[in-house]
Formats: sequence, structure tokens, C-alpha cells
Amino acid sequence: METDETLLGSPDESGLSVEQPHDHAAGVTAVKVAMQRALKEMGPVRTARTLVRLNQVDGFDCMSCAWPDPDPEHRHRAEFCENGAKAVAEEATKARVTPEFFAEHSVSDLLRQTDHWLGKQGRLTHPMVKWPGADHYEPISWDDGLRVVAEHLQQLGSPDEAVFYTSGRASNEAAFAYQLFVRELGTNNLPDCSNMCHESSGVALIDTIGIGKGSVSLEDLYRADLIVLAGQNPGTNHPRMLSALETAKKRGARIISINPLREAGLVNFHNPQNAHGVLGRGTDLTDLHLQVRLNGDLALFQAIGALLVEWDALDHDFVARCTEGFEAWRDHVAGVDWQRVVEVTGLSRDQITQAARMIADSDATVYCWAMGLTQHRNAVATIKEVVNLALARGDIGKPGAGLCPVRGHSNVQGDRTMGIWEKPPAAFLDALAAEYGFEPPRHHGYDTVESIYAMLEGKASVFVALGGNFLHAAPDTALTAEALQRTALTVQISTKLNRSHLITGRTALILPTLGRTERDDRASGPQFITVEDSMSVVHASRGRLDPASEHLRSEVAIVTGLAEATLGRDAVVDWGALGADYSLIRAGIERVVPGFEDYERRVSRRGGFVLPHPPRDSRTFTTGTGKAHFTASPLEILEVPAGHLVLQTLRSHDQFNTTVYGLSDRYRGIEGGRLVVMVNRRDLQAMGLRADDLVDIVACWDDGRDRRVQGFRVVEYDTPVGTAAAYYPETNPLVPLGSAAEGSNTPTSKSVIVRLEPAAGAR
Ligand code: SF4
Repeated sequence: METDETLLGSPDESGLSVEQPHDHAAGVTAVKVAMQRALKEMGPVRTARTLVRLNQVDGFDCMSCAWPDPDPEHRHRAEFCENGAKAVAEEATKARVTPEFFAEHSVSDLLRQTDHWLGKQGRLTHPMVKWPGADHYEPISWDDGLRVVAEHLQQLGSPDEAVFYTSGRASNEAAFAYQLFVRELGTNNLPDCSNMCHESSGVALIDTIGIGKGSVSLEDLYRADLIVLAGQNPGTNHPRMLSALETAKKRGARIISINPLREAGLVNFHNPQNAHGVLGRGTDLTDLHLQVRLNGDLALFQAIGALLVEWDALDHDFVARCTEGFEAWRDHVAGVDWQRVVEVTGLSRDQITQAARMIADSDATVYCWAMGLTQHRNAVATIKEVVNLALARGDIGKPGAGLCPVRGHSNVQGDRTMGIWEKPPAAFLDALAAEYGFEPPRHHGYDTVESIYAMLEGKASVFVALGGNFLHAAPDTALTAEALQRTALTVQISTKLNRSHLITGRTALILPTLGRTERDDRASGPQFITVEDSMSVVHASRGRLDPASEHLRSEVAIVTGLAEATLGRDAVVDWGALGADYSLIRAGIERVVPGFEDYERRVSRRGGFVLPHPPRDSRTFTTGTGKAHFTASPLEILEVPAGHLVLQTLRSHDQFNTTVYGLSDRYRGIEGGRLVVMVNRRDLQAMGLRADDLVDIVACWDDGRDRRVQGFRVVEYDTPVGTAAAYYPETNPLVPLGSAAEGSNTPTSKSVIVRLEPAAGAR
């Protein structure tokens, strides 16, 4: 079993300090911090050259979250947030990780460093290899590197013995080429980061409305009467969303936020783009905050449904014309057990009634959600319950209303649209076969959790990652580490150093790639890439900076190079041509993926184009029955043993996914450290613990493995009784691989049952 040090490095927490949480987000401080980070990493010239082009029409798309850009006419000169600036600074940093760096630092040395330190070492500059038994990476030529991968793949007994992971930063062109290569190779083992985030949303939406994507535009958000923010922390994870919420508030919208934590970005927004935000008291956002217990959301939404039925606050015409299953749902929620609801949610009946009244009084409601709903065992049922509320009120396919799963990674939705999916629809595979003249595999592949089991069981021996930090994005870190170390080969296509480069297969390759800020010149000239945001807008992204190293290759060039090396003369697809001119990839996408007609011309328009969404566009539901489906889900409750808490893993404000930008979780008042666990005062008293105590956090799971993280500082925090919160990836070792959402197999990172034990040697 790997130790904490190997999995997390040995952080210096001596600078940890805790103060009162903030009651507003952004403000002048956000601008100051953004500029400080940018100037520190990039210097003044690069800072100016990059940030003026971030999210601009002819610029590059932010590589962080997937929040949409306003129409070209409504974009600010500075069309980015604090965390967007940090993401750019991380990528366009002047720091470099060279062959000399790897000669100086052994893998054993690097394992002692924190992920924050690893990320700060800069951009990878050369292809590197670590041979079996070696403790240092050494340079390797591109040809040799690609040959090493090709030989490992060619020696497999079956293509299904290889896993091809994708992180949500991959462009449409890279993602489409990647799935095309993997399917020509002969497998559907295409897990991706959405398996761990919005897979539950995709499954619930496809079952209920026929498409796994949100149905709203920015304009709908601006025009909503009511916006429900559930299980989401926009101030940190989608900061420009605050501007959209402010616009909606100014138009009279009301906001309900549902979150165990009263996050600053839910309370008030000091918009640094206007005087009111800089000099005034900013814009109050939430009108009603429901501080629900972790995993209490299903009960909450069912109770709200029961009140809408009781009050007959229903859109009967829409229900009759467009839906089915209403009666079963109506009867199900009519029997709601209020005592159970109050117990499970931690909310009063009055609070729930207030929320239901706000929904009943709204003519147009938008439901937004993120990981707080998707990473639970009953996540799919919970999201279907949100859909039930929208269907009951006809809040889909009309202005100012709809469903809005807010995506966390810049092109995670685009990657799925491009076919990055271990369960590809038959129609997609048929179109692929027709376009490229080979028969793709039809059996489903491994998702992320299944991939880890396959590597553990020796069923998969080659792991390739297109971006990301798989080790830390995945649950059950010690088990995931074991899985990766059992493989013959791990390949990381990366921009920066992370721990997945240190916990590897017997042979390990690092293939350094271009970033979004950088120029991408190919044989046919400068190339642009395209991405799809959370609201199905597809647009172009063009980098202009010189590459961080002359040895870098684009993601597309690496993928097409891998395909050429592996498939050789047997290749049916002309990989060389695709690698030289991305418009040929887009031409293929146009003929294989619905909604991309006239792709090249439309994506070159200012702001790009919006993909079709039948429920949004025409209240058409491409379900098996042509109707939207109500769902009657049994109310399953998380049973928590006495003396235990339900823990949610979350990001600090100074982090994007597994990338740690810094040690300042400013809004929550936590500075200078990350090994903290936020717990309610009453729980501390009940456990005989106090703020500042050092504890171990131990996961309670039934497979006999001791999942423990050590030496966390207790922070007394306003979280519902019985619940706790701590950062990932530091607490991902506690999330059992076997604990996943029904129907989506998404790890239950928001409801981990734990106990706190005084740390060894503590008071
Ligand atoms: S809101 Fe998201 S996409 Fe926009 S600048 Fe910030 S991090 Fe980037």
C-alpha cells in the first residue's frame, strides 16, 4: 500500500492559517490576485499578450472551465475571471521542465514533492522515457517514443488490453482523431474525466429528455424569473457565471441556492467590471439558501414536487402534450414522508415550502447543478427529480427556463460529442464506418472505474492519457496507483509535470504537447482548434504565443503520429493528411456527428454556432417514446453509523480540478495549507475534538482495506451537522473505487462516510 508521502508528497503546513469566511466573491482582490499570478509566471509582456486575447473572438479559449462566452458584441475587454487568469499563467509560464531537470531530480525525489510544487516547475519541453527499473526519466526522440507505444500496442493479445483516457481539455479535433485511432485499433476503452463528474447528468438527461446536455443559453439565464443553483460553487468553479447571475438579478430574477456550504459566490458578487462592484456593496445573489445535508437533495426535490402537486402548480398542457409517466411520479411524491425529509435534508418544512413557493410563482425557472448532485450513489435519481420539477412546470423549451448542468472542464462536453465515450451509440459507429471504411468495435469499453479494475486485474497493460492527471482525478488513490504500476506502459500527453508522471507503468513516456495559448503550425499552415462549451456553443480557439519548446507537438500531431506508428501500412485512415490539416478532421466530423453541417464556415463566424438541442429548440424529445419521461425514484437514504460523518471532497478557490494554483482558499478563510477538514462545531463537541486538532480521516467501507489520510487540521466550519468537507486530491484516497453512482458509475466523492481519529502523537 503506497504511503501518503508517495501519493501526496510531504506538504509543509506550517503556514496554515484560518480566518472568517468571506461574504462576497471577486472584487478588486480578484483582479489583484489574477495580475500577481500572471506577472509572476509570465512577466508583463506575455501577461498583456495573453490576457487581452483570452476568450476573445479571434483569441484562444480558456483552458479551465466550460462557462460560455457572451455574444461577441457583449464581451468585455477583459473577458476572463481570476481563475481563468491563473489557468493561463500556469500554461504560459516561463518556467521549464527540461531534460536537465529530470537528470537532477529522480522520480523518488519528485515523489516527495507536493502537487503544487510539481505544477510550479513549468512546461515540459522534450519527450521523455523512464525505462523499467530506472529512477530517472531520460530524453527520447519523437520517432523512438511513438515506436515504443506502437510496439507495446502491437504486442497486445487484444486491443481491449489498452486504455485510452481523455481529460476535458482536449480539443474537438484532437478528441475526434483520438477516438478514430482507438476504434481503428479495435477498442472502445475510452474513459474520460466526465465519467467522474457529469456522467450522472448525461445518463439522467438521456433517459428523461433524450439528450445528455443542458438546454439553456446565456440569454435564458439572463431572462429567468428564478434560478436554482444546486450543488455548485460558481464563485470558484465557474466565476464568470456570477456576471450572468448579476444580469439576471438586475432584471428581477430570484435565486435559490442549495449547498451544504454558504459559499461566498452564492451570497454576493463584487463585479470588478463595474463601479457598483468596486466601490459599492456589490450584488446580492441568493434570495433563499438551503443548507442541505450531503446527499439530502433527492429528498428535497421530491418534497418540493409533492408541494407543487398539492398546490396544482403544474403546467398541465405541457405535461399532457410532451410528457409521460406523470401519474406515477405524482402518486409517488404525494406520499412523501415529511419527517424523513426534514431528517435527511437537515432543512425545515418551512424552508422547503418557501422554495417550492418560489418555483410555483416563477414563470420561467433555470435549474443549474454541478458535482454536488452528480457524485452520490443516488445521483442519477436526484437529477431525474430535478427534471421532474422542470417538466411539471413546463420549464424546458421556453425562454428563461431549462436544465443547466454546468460543465467543469473547457471541452469535456465537446469530447463526448466527438465520440469520447466507452458506450458509443450505434448510429455514431455506423456513421464512422461509412465515412472511414472500417468496422469499428461494437462492444462497450471500460469507463474510468472499470479501467482501474482492469489494470488491477491485469486485463489492461497499456494506459494512454490525453491530458489530465489520472492518478489524482480518479478515486481510491492508493488502488489507482497500484493499478497504474501493474501496467507495462503508461503514456502521458501533457503540458506540465504532475504526479501521474511519477506513479507509472514499468515503462513510462511523457509526450509534451502544445497549450491553448500557443501557435500550432502544421504542413498546411497555422491551425485553429474548436471547442464546445456548457451551453453547446462550438467556437474556434487560436493560440499566438511561440511554443514553450521547439520539441512540442500538438495533441492532434501526437495522436495522428501514434496512429501512423501503430497501424502502419494497415491503416485505412490517411493519418498523415489529418495531422497536416485539421480542416480534414472537421470535414470528417461534419459527416459523422449530427449538427456540424457546414462546420468550417460556421465555426469561422464570430462566436461560432450553437448545436441543435431538440427539447430546447422545439420541445421535441428524442426518447424512445418521443415524450419526456417523469421518473418515480425510491428515496434511498445514506445510512451513516454513529460517530461518523459524511465527507464531501471539494476544490479550494486556488485550484482547478487536480491543478493546485496556490494555497489560498480565500473565500473560506483558509490560507497557507491544504490538509484541513471542515467540521461543524456540534460534531466536534460530540467527538471531543476542537478546532486546530490534528486528526486522521478514516473512510468506512466494507472491503477490509484501511483508507486513511493522516495529519489533517480540524477547522470549525459552518457545514450541516453530520457532514464535513476537505480538499481533493488529498482526500481522494478515501473514496472507495467500489462506491459509485448507480447507472453512471461516477465515484461518490460528495458522500464518503468517514470517522475522525486523533492523529498519532497528537494531544
Ligand atoms: S469562468 Fe471559467 S472559462 Fe471563464 S475565464 Fe473563468 S475559468 Fe475560464
